[in-house]
Amino acid sequence: MRTAFDTHEVSNQAPPFVDVNLFAADRPLRDAVNANGAHTDIAALERFGEGWGTAHMFELARLANENPPKLRTFDPYGRRLDIVEFHPSYHRFMRESIGDGLACMTWDEHGTRAGAPTEVARAARYYMVAQVENGHMCPVTMTRAAVAALAAAPALLARVLPKITSRQYAPEFRSWTEKSGITIGMGMTEKQGGTDVCANTTSAEPAGEGYLITGHKWFMSAPMSDAFLVLAQAPAGLTCFFMPRFTPDGQVNALRLQRLKDKLGNRSNASSEVEFAGAFAWRVGDEGRGVRTIIEMVQLTRLDCAIASAGLMRMALAQAVHHARHRVVFQRKLADQSLMQTVLADLALECEGAVAAMMRLCGSYDLAARDPLEEARARLLTPVIKYWICKSAPSLIYEAMECLGGNGYVEEGILARLYREAPVNAIWEGSGNVVCLDVLRALSHEGEAARAVLAQLAKEAGALPGCAEAVTFIQNALSATEEAHARAGVERLALLAAVAALQAGAPGIASAFARHRLAAPFTRLFGAAELTQAEAAGLLERALPVG
Ligand SMILES: Cc1cc2nc3c(=O)[nH]c(=O)nc-3n(C[C@H](O)[C@H](O)[C@H](O)COP(=O)(O)OP(=O)(O)OC[C@H]3O[C@@H](n4cnc5c(N)ncnc54)[C@H](O)[C@@H]3O)c2cc1C
Repeated sequence: MRTAFDTHEVSNQAPPFVDVNLFAADRPLRDAVNANGAHTDIAALERFGEGWGTAHMFELARLANENPPKLRTFDPYGRRLDIVEFHPSYHRFMRESIGDGLACMTWDEHGTRAGAPTEVARAARYYMVAQVENGHMCPVTMTRAAVAALAAAPALLARVLPKITSRQYAPEFRSWTEKSGITIGMGMTEKQGGTDVCANTTSAEPAGEGYLITGHKWFMSAPMSDAFLVLAQAPAGLTCFFMPRFTPDGQVNALRLQRLKDKLGNRSNASSEVEFAGAFAWRVGDEGRGVRTIIEMVQLTRLDCAIASAGLMRMALAQAVHHARHRVVFQRKLADQSLMQTVLADLALECEGAVAAMMRLCGSYDLAARDPLEEARARLLTPVIKYWICKSAPSLIYEAMECLGGNGYVEEGILARLYREAPVNAIWEGSGNVVCLDVLRALSHEGEAARAVLAQLAKEAGALPGCAEAVTFIQNALSATEEAHARAGVERLALLAAVAALQAGAPGIASAFARHRLAAPFTRLFGAAELTQAEAAGLLERALPVG
């Protein structure tokens, strides 16, 4: 592409990476979709990938993030408003994602799992959306996940569910009962503790058909949601509640939005600090069982963190490969220079493992209802896969950024936004240590099921390099229930799960992944994998076909 200026011609710059079919150009995704039972969805996924990969969608994403939401605490006359205004492009994304069923397609009309292959089909779409715009996915995730917790309040769920499954986005500030479509947020974290929600001080007093909630939340994202699942101390202990923005008699509920967080990334989405001044809420589940109830939601939000981070990694990789195929340095395309090939191929290898492991995990959700081993696999591996993918994303995106040189570092490109976005998925919904401790707890409570899952993974991974040693390592690291070494065991378990998933979906890649992630001496930096030239070329062609 050459453009004439007064002083020079612009040359040797890659064309923008837009108008790309996010599904058709992604062989690892297609393989994972096929391997996990969603092959009948391929044509629809191709249409989805085409629609989300247009230059227009990337431009809307830029606008949504460069025009972050604004809190309007008061009206011009000093009356409380407590509303947040979003850029039109954010609303467009909400309408698209909700309209495409990302907040509901895994539920049937009773609020139970819709079954295979809906989780896999949704994950493929969610992963593509994550490559374009992330902030709006927060309320989409929370809305779909809230259904799992609302199962503890069947009568309420029966009223709420049709407004989630309607696939309508209705952003107007009105009672949820009057709207065709709703979104749901969650409020657990308080100033004195996020992980330790038992330290919540927000209180709940029984009042009429519900409770009055008094206290605060220190992080409550998507504050324009129609309702929130919140934790508060009821007379019999920490309890889950459904807190609508409007009371049943149509008044604005007593939620006081204090501030919006000034966040590193995730800027198109609002995250609020909020006070509840005797806000009305219905109870969800028994008093004292708040953690038990909301954990059903948390498991699904963790899954989405893994899917979204895999999507961020994928977009960073695609940008890097695209750039290297166009940029000439020292008279040769970067993509043709062997050290750059190794770097790109190593990034591609990581993305292969991430998408395969994440999609196989979603497959377990699809199969859980009829196969107890798949149910155990979903339960055990959700924090494991979340841990590995979300932790891998920032460093992978950084390395991809470096492949673009200076262009990678400036805000006009997408890499800077992906990089700022990435850490949040690791921090929220179970930060690194917390999910590792959860895995230890799961192993001690469900030892037999966990051993069965590990045996299944070992069988699926087969005799590839490093797998047998990894199984022994995982058994030792995790059976000791020694907290200090939990991360090493969880990471190995994730890598073993990735090898197992690759064996099923992309067997040609499984061996390289096992060699470089399980058998090779551990290296913390990307680009050090000893891949053959043929392996590197194969990985890059799968990552992004030439031409
Ligand atoms: C952008 C964004 C949006 C958010 N949105 C929401 C929301 O909508 N709703 C909501 O409820 N929350 C939300 N959060 C809050 C988030 O869930 C919490 O920040 C997170 O759970 C961690 O809690 P904390 O900040 O209190 O950290 P802490 O609980 O103090 O943890 C600090 C660190 O200590 C580690 N740690 C904790 N316990 C142990 C232990 N026993 N051993 C070793 N290490 C440990 C943790 O892994 C973490 O790294 C959001 C956060 C962000 C950044």
